[in-house]
Amino acid sequence: MKSAPDRQQGVVYTASRLVAEAGATFSPGAVAVADGSVLLAGTAADVLRAAPAGFHRMEFPGAAIVPGLVNAHVHLQIPRFTDDAGMALPIPNSFVDWILRVIAWRLGAPPASLAGNFRSAAAEALSFGTTTVGEIAGPDLSPYDGCPLRARVFAEGIGFAPHVASEVLALVGAAIDRLEKISAGNPLVQAGVSPHTLYTVGERLLRSLAELAAAKGLPACLHLAESTPETAFLSDGGGEIASRLYPAVGKDVSWFRGLGRTIPAYLAEAGLLREGVLLAHAVHLARPEIDALRAGGARFVLCPRSNAAHGNGAPDVTHFVDAKIPFALGTDSLGSVADLSPWEEMRGARSLYKGKKKDAVLCRELFRACTEHGAAALGLPGGILAPGEPADFSIVDDPGGDGDRFFRDLVEKTDRANVRLTVVAGRTAHAAA
Ligand SMILES: [Zn+2]
Repeated sequence: MKSAPDRQQGVVYTASRLVAEAGATFSPGAVAVADGSVLLAGTAADVLRAAPAGFHRMEFPGAAIVPGLVNAHVHLQIPRFTDDAGMALPIPNSFVDWILRVIAWRLGAPPASLAGNFRSAAAEALSFGTTTVGEIAGPDLSPYDGCPLRARVFAEGIGFAPHVASEVLALVGAAIDRLEKISAGNPLVQAGVSPHTLYTVGERLLRSLAELAAAKGLPACLHLAESTPETAFLSDGGGEIASRLYPAVGKDVSWFRGLGRTIPAYLAEAGLLREGVLLAHAVHLARPEIDALRAGGARFVLCPRSNAAHGNGAPDVTHFVDAKIPFALGTDSLGSVADLSPWEEMRGARSLYKGKKKDAVLCRELFRACTEHGAAALGLPGGILAPGEPADFSIVDDPGGDGDRFFRDLVEKTDRANVRLTVVAGRTAHAAA
């Protein structure tokens, strides 16, 4: 057991097990929390012995304290899309039709609905034991003032033609300024920069956004290699994005003839292949491309359920796991998936793995993807429970078992109904009814 300096007051949470990180569990286990941070983490006996006098004690028999889950790719202001009768709309067969639906929503959504969407999605995320998100900023920045999750909020820029680059850059810069003010009042929120995709952000804007992120020392997140229309457009300027998406929004991209370089080379030239760059989806990439992007410092967030829902294929989970390329998992928005369950996302990734690793070992790695690697991908603290780390954790039903088998059962059996408590920065953010 390791310990940080004593604090005056706090709480000791004890449970049948503590998962301090994917590599370390203690049974029975405990964490002592003060001032929003972990003060002690280890066996219940050690923590209780070392905890300062006067700490409150909360006991959770039959439960495991686990690091808060990290849902590294969400859009919490995008709602479930329903018809007038409130029935879920089926996801269109064509990914371009899907993008057009999101554009229509964004143009037509009542401004007041966005904060409500955000609050209900944030509450849903917490109910699954999620404490941390990688959020693509919605149109309304005001709800991030009260964001109850630890969040990297990426201000998004979209603009393909060179002449719009300076205007979009100014908008993103203003959004970053606003997010930095929000962060001064709500330290759970940290800003980031998101060039939307390579088919919606032209080279001039891409370079400008990369420079902005570098100048401010902020991470950047980019949707990459999500669909076959994207790949077609980037290779020669053709396909559905040229023939249907851009005409539908009244923009001429006939001048674009493709990137003319590999994706890793293009990102490197634009200044977006470095530590602190997060690539979302990464479905349509060959293994050497994934390896080159990783060698350049990029990290990845995979969203297997969203990709399946859109018929976009599947990320190469086997390669990421077997080549030991760290990756995070994300649900994407409620417009694409039925719920914001990282547990379901882990199960989705589990079903895609075709390598030789034992299932139980794989499940431990997927849990690491949703905790430690998720936090690292977002450049945020947490993902493990150790002295000095934020007190971001969840308390879930302990499925039993030891070693890797525990992680297999945890991943297999856990969902919202098993989450008893979610704590962010030492404060209860969700408690089961
Ligand atoms: Zn997305």
